[in-house]
Amino acid sequence: MQICVAVRVRPPVAVSQEIFNGNYWRLEDNHISLCKSDGTHISGVSYAFDHVFDESCTNARVYELLTKDIIHSAVEGFNGTTFAYGQTSSGKTFTMNGSETDPGIIHRAVRDIFNKINMMSDREFLIRVSYMEIYNEEINDLLAVEHQKLQIHESLERGIFVAGVREEIVNNAEQVLELIAAGEVHRHFGETNMNVRSSRSHTIFRMVIESKVKDTNSLADYSSSDAVRVSVLNLVDLAGSERIAKTGAGGVRLKEGKHINKSLMALGNAINKLSDGPKQRGHIPYRDSKLTRILQPALGGNAKTSIICTIAPEEVHIEETKGTLQFASQAN
Ligand code: ADP
Ligand code: MG
Repeated sequence: MQICVAVRVRPPVAVSQEIFNGNYWRLEDNHISLCKSDGTHISGVSYAFDHVFDESCTNARVYELLTKDIIHSAVEGFNGTTFAYGQTSSGKTFTMNGSETDPGIIHRAVRDIFNKINMMSDREFLIRVSYMEIYNEEINDLLAVEHQKLQIHESLERGIFVAGVREEIVNNAEQVLELIAAGEVHRHFGETNMNVRSSRSHTIFRMVIESKVKDTNSLADYSSSDAVRVSVLNLVDLAGSERIAKTGAGGVRLKEGKHINKSLMALGNAINKLSDGPKQRGHIPYRDSKLTRILQPALGGNAKTSIICTIAPEEVHIEETKGTLQFASQAN
């Protein structure tokens, strides 16, 4: 399976650099490497990806290069997923949700899907939206707060699905964006510290795109497999990838950290194997986490996947950034 991998550096926030050595990340074309203050490369810390974006890169460009193609394929009946991976405060949510002036991937994808659909006059579409959070290996419905701890089921008819999750039928982009806004409120429901919760949970925004040919008399023109198409599109804002030690706490925080590491590791393993190609791939451990299990139908096969690995430019974050680049390179 082809996986497109990008690294995106967010703008720096002012921090005192006095106690550091002046090491910094240098970006050249699709390369990123660690340099000393005198500009010489630190050997062994250099990576290449499909794309490397500096701080001036817009969400519009990220969408164009990492997700647009996936969206168009999804409308044509192919599954697709875009992930944002990285440590807390590196820009995952900025990439997925965006800002007033530069809407994020999700917003652009939703608009693009409806634009595309409206141009396809020969098919009729049924679009369903769901929005979930995985927190401590529990699946919660962001479109219906009362739906907590949902279970994953599998049937011949439906394949793998989250039982009881609300799926809203939607007819236009505005409707979807309103649902998402409502979901965002639920995401922080009952939380005293919004950032804590959001950095420790994975959120999956999902659209199921079903279409069939409009004119059944012309059915004969289509191969039977093309008469009805169903595809799943996932846009995923992953939990912060920072290691547990850094959060420095026992108890609840430690438990959360273990769950996060487990599912991000499971995702890394699955993606690593998928990027190897069908021959070398062997068993893919989807069952190792809720995250990989939910995404299983949309990974592998002829599904399209892209990963945006967000990193912070500050020297204080170099070790975490190396971890993120490591994750990114095993997917590449
Ligand atoms: P994460 O979701 O990874 O924890 P955020 O997306 O919340 O991180 O980003 C942390 C802060 O940095 C936010 O204030 C966000 O607006 C800002 N930020 C992140 N990436 C960018 C970017 N590419 N351009 C401008 N601001 C950014
Ligand atoms: Mg976030």
